[in-house]
Amino acid sequence: MTKDKASELGTEILSYCGRCKIPLNHLIHSVTKTGKPDRCECQTCGALHKYRNPDKPVKPRGKAGPKKEKVSIETLWKEAVAAAGENATPYAMSGNFAEGELMDHSTFGKGVVQTLINHTKIKVIFQDAEKILVQNR
Ligand SMILES: [Zn+2]
Repeated sequence: MTKDKASELGTEILSYCGRCKIPLNHLIHSVTKTGKPDRCECQTCGALHKYRNPDKPVKPRGKAGPKKEKVSIETLWKEAVAAAGENATPYAMSGNFAEGELMDHSTFGKGVVQTLINHTKIKVIFQDAEKILVQNR
């Protein structure tokens, strides 16, 4: 038998207790219109308070910072290019690149060396992707 997930008055639910500072069993005293627990009573300290999802840590008061958007590779690339300066070295497999160096690749365009993987491999960020290129060949 499948039980409706809607919370019922008087049933026990795990809620974060602001007084006990830990998730504890609470008795549901009221539910919201959407069937979610609203007020509940801590079975440990007896406090009556709003239900708090125990899985979500309580956020500190005040405004939450702006939502972190996923930084696109293009944004990273732009920043890297801006930081790398003006002079792009034309890419060649025989080249020897340094971290942070700006390069000009015949296919991918401008790129900035992100990591020196080893003597012959470098990771370079281009406008739409990071690529592993060879050097010192
Ligand atoms: Zn409590």
